[in-house]
Amino acid sequence: MTLSEADVIVIGGGTGGYSTALRAAALGLRVVLAERDRVGGTCLHRGCVPSKAMLHAAELVDGIAEARERWGVASTLDSIDWPALVATRDDIVSRNHRGVVDHLAHAGVEVAYGSARLTGPRSVVVEGYGEVRARRGIVLATGSRPRTLPGLVPDGRRVVTSDDALFAPGLPGSVLVLGGGAIGVEYASFHRSLGAEVTLVEAADRLVPLEDPEVSRHLTRGLKRRGVDVRAGARLVETELVTDGVRATVRTARGEIRTVEAERLLVAVGRAPVTDGLGLAAAGLTADERGHVAPADWSRLETAVPGIHVVGDLLPPPSLGLAHASFAEGLLVAETLAGLATAPVDYAAVPRVTYSSPQTAAVGLTEEEARNRGHEVTVNTMPLTAVAKGMVHGRGGMVKVVAERGGRVLGVHLVGPQVSEMIAESQLIVGWDAEPSDVARHIHAHPTLSEAVGETFLSLAGRGLHQR
Ligand code: FAD
Repeated sequence: MTLSEADVIVIGGGTGGYSTALRAAALGLRVVLAERDRVGGTCLHRGCVPSKAMLHAAELVDGIAEARERWGVASTLDSIDWPALVATRDDIVSRNHRGVVDHLAHAGVEVAYGSARLTGPRSVVVEGYGEVRARRGIVLATGSRPRTLPGLVPDGRRVVTSDDALFAPGLPGSVLVLGGGAIGVEYASFHRSLGAEVTLVEAADRLVPLEDPEVSRHLTRGLKRRGVDVRAGARLVETELVTDGVRATVRTARGEIRTVEAERLLVAVGRAPVTDGLGLAAAGLTADERGHVAPADWSRLETAVPGIHVVGDLLPPPSLGLAHASFAEGLLVAETLAGLATAPVDYAAVPRVTYSSPQTAAVGLTEEEARNRGHEVTVNTMPLTAVAKGMVHGRGGMVKVVAERGGRVLGVHLVGPQVSEMIAESQLIVGWDAEPSDVARHIHAHPTLSEAVGETFLSLAGRGLHQR
């Protein structure tokens, strides 16, 4: 077996792993990045990028109905050419993939294609490549895969995961989505836009249960208005495979038993960390009860074994299972390994977005979290339709700001069209501990949707113009 040395070995070439590798290489470290599939990982090949491409297509389809119903544009949807839609999506993915491959090569990162296994606290074997010793450290970035429920075995056809749904040969006429987190909601949304009958079942009493209840309320209303049958507080009791799909028994929030028939059951009940074959024990590590590898020191994302760090979906909360959180973690770990002093990741200031129609975007604390943490809060909520551009869009939505009474902004919560593009300023507001009066000094362009954010802060600062 060939034996080589590197400063840093990264296991897993997803967003967490490749960002660590790129930054470490930029800081002059010799990096070996082990990847058993394709660099880019879940986000690029099975997650963020292909799903957002589909959601973009879905939005265009929704626009046809809006053009007809609101703007007098004689338009009809003839058909959806699924292979053409998929080809555009896949072209975006493959161009991005080539970009990541080139970027790594240009940075001087050596990519070792093969399954990697820890053989000790400073050594890794990569199948087909050999053994590598790490002078400075090892970074675990093996990510996650779809979780399922006991007794619910995805067969890729009738019972599917988010991976299967992307690569299915066509669109189903009907789909039962199990799970009302971001992934379930996004898949429910684009299937509905593309013409499927959609039932969305969530066991918690509301969709996106980690977000502010007002966000859940507006999201649910928006989805229902588009014809999604949203069942929060409901449980899947039983599933039977039938010839052309599934027959599911669901207990509703009121305790009634309902039968839902659908061509596909999409299981979107969360993600499970990937550690199979990783050899944690050989390095003196163990996973926690949910399979995550927890750092002993969150400020360096370093495990109890000195020199072994963790990034991305392999981390337990408060990490967020989000690609942009994993980028920040990668930067932190690379800089730590290079001997730089870098601030820990501020998870409270990481934006959280659901790219459905309507979209949700939030940063910081919900009103309830703020109160539970003992803050005396002041809250201002404003409908997006209070500003002209919100009326132009005509799709509802809201801005909610939670601030400390007489103090800094603790959280901003948005629902509506394009709010994923509007959250950036709020992340700076929360991250920089700004107060409503700091924000109110800055003028927002008129007419824009983000003007509603500006107006919400103006009112909180006692200078409201359009809010009664
Ligand atoms: P991964 O991307 O899972 O990468 C891990 C890599 O490690 C994989 O390539 C795997 O092949 C490799 N690997 C595993 N074990 C080994 C081994 N032993 N040896 C060698 N290689 C190994 N996040 C967002 O921020 N925004 C979004 O819009 C968004 N949308 C999403 C939509 C969907 C449908 C899904 C499923 C996820 C979405 N996410 C989104 C989450 C995001 O994809 C993940 O947070 C992110 O991919 C995590 O990156 P990672 O590097 O930790 O792991």
